[in-house]
Amino acid sequence: MAILDEPIKEVIQLKNYINGEWVESESDQILDIVNPAKQKVIAKVPMSTTEEVNEAVKAAKEAYPEWRRTTPLARVRCLFRLKELMEENFEQLSRVQTMEHGKTIDESRGETRRGIEMVEVSTGIPSLMMGYNLEDIASGIDEYVIYQPLGVFCHLAPFNFPFMVPLWYFPFALATGNTFVIKPSPRDPISQVKLAELIEEAGFPPGVYNLVHGGADVATTLMENPDIKGVTFVGSSTVGKKVYKKCGETGKRAIVQGAAKNFMVVMPDADIQRTIAALMTSFFGNTGQRCLSGANLVIVGKDDAFYKKFLSMFVEAASKIRVGYGLDESIQMGPVQSIDGKERILRYLEIGIKEGAKLLLDGRKLKIIGDYPDTCFLGPSVFEGVTPDMTCGREEIFGPVASIMRAADLDEAIKMVNSSKFGNGDAIFTSSGKTAREFQYRVESGNVGINIGIVAPMAFFPFSGMKDSFFGVLHGQGKDAIRFFTESKVVIQRWF
Ligand code: NAD
Repeated sequence: MAILDEPIKEVIQLKNYINGEWVESESDQILDIVNPAKQKVIAKVPMSTTEEVNEAVKAAKEAYPEWRRTTPLARVRCLFRLKELMEENFEQLSRVQTMEHGKTIDESRGETRRGIEMVEVSTGIPSLMMGYNLEDIASGIDEYVIYQPLGVFCHLAPFNFPFMVPLWYFPFALATGNTFVIKPSPRDPISQVKLAELIEEAGFPPGVYNLVHGGADVATTLMENPDIKGVTFVGSSTVGKKVYKKCGETGKRAIVQGAAKNFMVVMPDADIQRTIAALMTSFFGNTGQRCLSGANLVIVGKDDAFYKKFLSMFVEAASKIRVGYGLDESIQMGPVQSIDGKERILRYLEIGIKEGAKLLLDGRKLKIIGDYPDTCFLGPSVFEGVTPDMTCGREEIFGPVASIMRAADLDEAIKMVNSSKFGNGDAIFTSSGKTAREFQYRVESGNVGINIGIVAPMAFFPFSGMKDSFFGVLHGQGKDAIRFFTESKVVIQRWF
């Protein structure tokens, strides 16, 4: 694995990986990949041509018949080798994520670990992919179900977890006997290239896994290619809705995971210290660029003293977060990934102030640890007096901004949560089992936390989502992924 580390010795242009070869794109549209903390170009990425994208799909299509006939155990051996290589390269894979995305090195390590877990779980495919049967559905007649792969799948990745998100899908797809084409986010595709180098080393046959760089045009070419059987997408709901529509029109199966606006509900009986600690990571971890980030903090109860105490502890903890370059181990929050992303957050801060929210903590006035340009840096911000219908209480800001709301009781808090058009990862903090159960029962959310601030499902559970946060039926990860990447075939047999 070629090392990408500082100082950058040479700014290279990333290649596509098609049919087991690293191929230079002929595109004349090349974008810079910028380390958001240092504002230095660290690599260049091409927006691949239509021919190159279709070439990747062709390679995947041609590799499919033989890969499908490869036994599940032999397929899984490639995944075991990949897991070993990921472990061996753990630190390098993590450092690259921090350099291209800006998250802290510990957050990157967490992302790498989660990614490895997907590979680990998908190695269970010989058991996970088993069908079922029943003898004598009529006299001397048996019926059974077998699960078969479909062909070529693709993935369109978001920028916020550049390494992990594609791993929610392709290990399961490859394990079940499909072949794959990945399009990383053009904003931070380097860690995915590093992973592709390991996939090559792990010995997957040429064409089984392919990677093409690009943006919306490349995504559209993939979705329009008739040889793609299914699309997995993670990103904004605006784009996700278009992807889902396109998949409907072209008859492809789809998993579309979209945006979020998560509520963290704090009951008066919550364990205050532990709740504050969990909320700091929930709201400000990954610089708030997480689909499971806390966005709205609902403090429940009519007791003004509890409200004031909790709020002041929350603001104080947020104000102490150390912001700087993520490769410094002492840093707790990195920069926003891009200038566009930061400008978007700044616009939301302006709108919040105009709509009457009180900015208790202003992230624009931050002190960066270390000598870095402030271009993409922003500290934690806290708005008080927000309601779910205000822009900052309603729309996904995707940055380190907490909107504080108040609810008289659990009923009102649940109504607030359910008024959102999103339903991705909402949580309650309480010491009452009854309250927690009521919340879990009624809340319209795909992933529910009870005294957990980031409800990230493990690889063996589905990554759920409701309302505008998810479009489709089957989810990524776990048993859902096995069903998504296979077709069930029913056989009824009688022998004379
Ligand atoms: P995005 O929608 O801008 O891009 C996602 C992917 O779609 C990228 O690969 C992009 O190149 C591609 N794309 C862009 N325009 C397209 C088009 N018109 N047609 C087809 N593809 C197109 O999202 P992003 O900014 O990269 O990611 C952040 C978003 O992802 C946030 O909204 C976040 O909540 C969401 N997200 C959701 C989950 C989840 O599990 N629900 C997880 C991570 C991120």
